[in-house]
Formats: sequence, structure tokens, C-alpha cells
Amino acid sequence: MTETEHVDVVVIGAGISGIGAGYHLQDKCPDRSYVILEGRDDLGGTWDLFRYPGIRSDSDMHTLGYSFKPWEGAKAIADGPDILAYLRETAVQYGIDRHMRFGHQVTRATWSSDDATWTVESTRTGTGETVSITCGFLFMCSGYYSYKAGHLPEFAGRERFGGQIIHPQEWPEDLDYDGKRVVIIGSGATAVTLVPAMAERAEHVTMLQRSPSYVVSRPAHDPIADALRKVLPDRVAYGVTRWKNAQLGEAFYKRTRTKPEKVKAKLLGLVRKELGPDFDVDTHFTPSYNPWDQRLCLVPDADLFEAIRTGLASVVTGHIETFTEKGIELVSGEVLEADVIVTATGLQLVTLGEMDFVVDGEPVDFSQTWTYKGLAYSDVPNLASSFGYINASWTLRADLTCGWVCRVLNHMRATGTTRVTPRLSGTDRHMTPRPYIDDFSSGYMRRAMPMLPRQGDHAPWINTQSYAADKKLITKAAVDDGVLEYTSPQRPKPRQPPVLA
Ligand SMILES: Cc1cc2nc3c(=O)[nH]c(=O)nc-3n(C[C@H](O)[C@H](O)[C@H](O)COP(=O)(O)OP(=O)(O)OC[C@H]3O[C@@H](n4cnc5c(N)ncnc54)[C@H](O)[C@@H]3O)c2cc1C
Repeated sequence: MTETEHVDVVVIGAGISGIGAGYHLQDKCPDRSYVILEGRDDLGGTWDLFRYPGIRSDSDMHTLGYSFKPWEGAKAIADGPDILAYLRETAVQYGIDRHMRFGHQVTRATWSSDDATWTVESTRTGTGETVSITCGFLFMCSGYYSYKAGHLPEFAGRERFGGQIIHPQEWPEDLDYDGKRVVIIGSGATAVTLVPAMAERAEHVTMLQRSPSYVVSRPAHDPIADALRKVLPDRVAYGVTRWKNAQLGEAFYKRTRTKPEKVKAKLLGLVRKELGPDFDVDTHFTPSYNPWDQRLCLVPDADLFEAIRTGLASVVTGHIETFTEKGIELVSGEVLEADVIVTATGLQLVTLGEMDFVVDGEPVDFSQTWTYKGLAYSDVPNLASSFGYINASWTLRADLTCGWVCRVLNHMRATGTTRVTPRLSGTDRHMTPRPYIDDFSSGYMRRAMPMLPRQGDHAPWINTQSYAADKKLITKAAVDDGVLEYTSPQRPKPRQPPVLA
């Protein structure tokens, strides 16, 4: 019989969060062993998976980059391949890549309170073999959407279409759309990225949306960051820009909550300026909701508006009746002829790497748990998960979460405890439940909300989605807060052999 390998921490996922976890563990808990299990054959997660034309960030790299590794790229809104290169460089520079095991799709994690260990089972891609590893702490860095497939609504007549239908999550490397008519279904970040990128080579690109999103142009280069870099050491300049962008982002978000009408008027005014007085901004760029009730779409250097102005791209707002042999027919009767249809219809959100979790023989239903600070779950021991912001860069929160995990591990080491569990007590049990994320009405979030844990009405049972609030709640607040229960298994004393007279 071979003995099961044991490490202190298993991290699941080698994307932004998993690489960050490796760095923080090495930096703050250098005596702890860890491995990163990754289902795919390479690191990078999102930034390796998505390969569609124009793929880029839609938040600035000074906050999407790590706190510990300056983003040195020229563009603040960066291209996907550059982000992937930055992640690879980080992993190699700090030797985090040596802890990664690729082709390990984790399917199940089983907790035993008696042993204070998780047993983590993976299926090896290629061979299908099941491998197990045990650990004292499980850190889920598995992102928030399914890697199996994107979200695809039912479209009537889909099978009739004679051209190609592509989902951005499965972009064919050799897709040839030169001189072709392209219709992109969607109005989110992916659609607004694809339109100008494909318009460079296609005959024409039509963005077909059911309803509009807020689209905001921002310079691809950050002039303040560039100026700071000239006079300050890289690390200092990066820190200042990171701080500035986090503050500005937070202030802007707050204003959308307190003065939504003013922000709305301002944003629509900017679109009118870009597209001129004859463009129907009311129909195509005026959402029915307030700014940041759904994610804002950022476009660098107004590239989407330029593609529309020059006639290379257009926007149609309407409902699809059916796909036809030649394209798409709308409920209005309008027909959009196409050679290629791109369904930029979004992601399928999932919980915790689509894995099964069992705690002391009981399957865990995360929708029935309460979130602890947006990073752990009531009654689920020795587990944390990295979930970023919907209204700011993911990494801001991933960094805070990693710091918290390390502080908890160090507290356990200092107190000689091996189990840590967020526990509800007294009146906590009667909190009025709120969705995991408040004030956000995007379809993909609404679809996911029933699977996610509940939020309560007071700390620590909340998920603030505010970097300033999280710095206090996650980073400053004590990890020995009376809610986290630290214990060790009471092992029965080995029975003494009877004393023979
Ligand atoms: C096209 C696109 C653009 C985006 N742009 C931005 C942006 O500009 N700014 C921003 O803040 N956010 C953006 N996001 C959100 C983005 O996903 C996060 O910023 C960030 O990349 C998430 O990093 P992560 O490591 O947490 O998750 P991911 O990047 O999703 O990585 C998770 C990793 O875990 C692995 N994994 C999952 N489950 C398992 C399992 N069971 N077993 C083994 N491995 C597993 C996956 O294979 C993957 O490699 C974007 C998302 C998309 C899809």
C-alpha cells in the first residue's frame, strides 16, 4: 500500500488567485508546505483560457496586478497575452511554478474532524487515474465560472444557420473572418472588446444586443502612472498608482450609489460626444438600470466608438426571433445576414471548482451556509476561497484573502490548534439572509445567486464588496475574533495493556 502524500496547504487553481496564494504562503508562512493543483495543462486560468481577438483586461493593471509585483507594462488596460506573461513571470520569479501540478482536475474534498485533514481527490487528465493528497488547509482559488463551457441561451433555429457559430470561451485558433460579415450577440465586456478587434479584418461587424450596457472610454495608458514611473523607483510608483486607482474606483462606485442620476447623465454625455448628435444613444447606449447595478464596460481609447463612427461596426438593439440559414431574424422583422455569429452571451457561474465537498460524512451545500467575510463558510472547517470584486479589480481582494489565510495559519501554529471553523452563535442564527452580492443585477450573477452562500446583516457574516471596508474587516480585524473556533482533535489515549499480577 502506498502512503497518501500530505502537505500543509492545498491550493486549487493556478490563475491570478492561486499564483498569489503561492507567493503569500511562501512569504508569510515559509515553514508551511503547499501544492497547487490545476486541472488544465498550464497556469493563468482566465488569461490562458480566453483566446478571442482583442482579449484584454477591463480594469487597470495597477489594481489587477499583485500588490507585491509591479506591473511594468506600457498599457494600463492590458492585452491578454501580456497579462498571461506577467503571471508566468511571477510564478517563475518566486519559484511558485515548482509547486504546481497540472492536469489534476479536483473532484472531491472530504474533511475529517478526527484527523483535522482534508482528503483531496483529483482525476488526472489523459490517464483518468484518481490521485489523492491530504492537507491541513484547503484554499480554493478556482475562480467563479465553469471551465467546461460558457453560458449559451437557447436560440430558435440555431441548427438552420449555414455559417459558423462561435462562443468566445472556445475560440478556434484558425478562425478566418477576413472580409466576412460578423454578428456578435451580447453587450457585455466580451462583446465590446470583440467588436473593434474583429472590425479590423471583417467586412462588417454588428453588435446585436437585447438591451444596452454602460460603456465608458478610458485611456489605455495612464499618464499619471507614466509620469510617476519617470521620477520614482518602479515599486514606489506602482504602489502609489495602485493606491490612487483603488481610491478613485471606490469613490466613483460610491457616487453611483448616492447620485446615480448625475453619474448616468455624465456617462451618457460622454457617449454622445463620441458618437455625435445623429447617433441614437437613447436606444443603443442607455441602459434601463443605474451605473454599476451591472458591470460597466470599459473600452480603451474609445476603440468601440471609433469602429462605429467609421462604419466598420454598428449596433442593433432588439430581440432574436430565430436564426435562419443566412443569419438572424429579429422580432421586429429586421434580418441580419452573417457568415459568422459570435455568441458573447457570458459565463456559467459555479461554486468552488464544481467539486463535491463532504464534512465528517455530510455533503456540504454551500447555498445553505453563511459567508464569513466573503472568504470562508459557516461550519466548514479549514477552508477559504478567493472571490474578487465585481466593481473593482479581482486581485485587490485576492491579495487581502491570501493575507488572511496566512494570518490564520500562523495563529494556529502559535496556539497549537489544527482546526478553524467559522461558527454562528446566539442571535447570529436569526439573521435575515441577503444574497451573497447585493445591488448587482447582472444576469450571470442572478443565475448564480441561489448556489452561493448567504450574507447576514452584520460583520463578520458579510461580503462587503468594498476594498476600504475589507481592509478593516479582513486585514486589520483579529483572526481570533470569537467567531472563528480554533480547536484540536482530542485523540483517545492509547489503551494501556492490562497489568498482569
Ligand atoms: C474575459 C475575461 C476578462 C476579465 N477581465 C477582468 C479584469 O479586467 N479585471 C478583473 O478584475 N477581473 C476580470 N475578469 C475576472 C477574472 O476571472 C479575474 O480577474 C481573475 O482572472 C480570476 O482569477 P482566479 O485565479 O481567481 O480564477 P481563474 O482565472 O478562473 O482561474 C481558476 C483556475 O482554477 C482552475 N480550476 C478550477 N476548478 C478546478 C478544479 N476543480 N480542479 C483543478 N483546477 C481547477 C482553473 O482551471 C483555472 O486555471 C475577467 C474575466 C474574464 C472571463
